[in-house]
Amino acid sequence: MKRYMQNIHRVVSYVPGDQPNFPDMVKLNTNENPYSPAPGVQEALRQSEVEQIRLYPDPTAHELNAAIAKAYHVDESQVFTGVGSDDVLAMIFQTFFRADLPILFPDITYAFYPVWCDLFRIPYAVQPLNDQLEIVPEDYTRENGGIIFPNPNAPTGAELPQSAIAYILEQNPESLVVVDEAYVDFGAQSALPLLERYENLLVVQTFSKSRSLAGERIGFAIGAPELIRALHDVKFSFNSYTMNCSALAAGTASVRDWAYLEKTTEKIITTRERCKQVFSKLGFRFPDSKSNFLFVTHPEVDAHALFEALREVHIFVRWFNAPRVRDYLRITIGTDAQMDQLFDFLRDYLGKKRG
Ligand SMILES: *Cc1c(COP(=O)(O)O)cnc(C)c1O
Repeated sequence: MKRYMQNIHRVVSYVPGDQPNFPDMVKLNTNENPYSPAPGVQEALRQSEVEQIRLYPDPTAHELNAAIAKAYHVDESQVFTGVGSDDVLAMIFQTFFRADLPILFPDITYAFYPVWCDLFRIPYAVQPLNDQLEIVPEDYTRENGGIIFPNPNAPTGAELPQSAIAYILEQNPESLVVVDEAYVDFGAQSALPLLERYENLLVVQTFSKSRSLAGERIGFAIGAPELIRALHDVKFSFNSYTMNCSALAAGTASVRDWAYLEKTTEKIITTRERCKQVFSKLGFRFPDSKSNFLFVTHPEVDAHALFEALREVHIFVRWFNAPRVRDYLRITIGTDAQMDQLFDFLRDYLGKKRG
């Protein structure tokens, strides 16, 4: 084999959920928001059009960062933005997880974490969730090179109480603790207030789920100015213009409309709570979810077979071919009408199974 072929940095990549495109589909497989982005976003996108894209975007993302800082009551020096929280998280792994010690995260969690570890050659040690699929805070007291977990966790939807996060921070004064709050707006408590007490905390959020802007790719981190400066230094050593003009404009308009965020997330929470009752009645079990999805299992149903049957009728959900979760499906909370279409199918499917 040629040397250049031998020297390729070979990696096993993250596999995102399918993006099928059928006019009649019910798409509940990638935790997108069924509602439109805030009304101001449409106006902002119209204004940011052709004349502006002749120019480079603002590399400091000042307007967006300032709007985020205002909305979350922090200083702009505490805000870092990137191309989706995937970009922000990748930057965090590269910037901070440099010790020879393993970083810690749950065995059942966001599948991108081990991929970044392999890509950046970061050692890691997964900590098993308990039988109720909850994070065990005591597992995060061993020596480590950093800690990361989503809260609520994905794909379980389970929330770790703020007292447990404070405990993990308290036990790890020498480690950076990253809380990935991709789903926090759907009723969980944010770790942001803990920033006043702990300088080793970074909180990461995204505009993709609660703000209906998955296609614009906007994510951010909030933490101590020293940490944010380090992130900017790495970012500017790699690509100064990560976020494009339209994402900057759309994100700014979105974050300025807090009332709209509350209105749409409330709608999804109401639908989710109703869905919990229907799933329970149908015999499904699931961890209590504070996110915009439910992670369901059924004692009489093969999850992969159900996944395939749903796909046949263009109802898309997510099945993970991974240890401990093969019997589960992760189902995004869509509109009430979409969920009713799913439940109609499930009643029929379970009825046929029982004969
Ligand atoms: C969706 C998700 C992200 C990434 O979202 P972006 O679209 O890249 O902002 C990060 N972490 C978790 C746990 C997620 O579910």
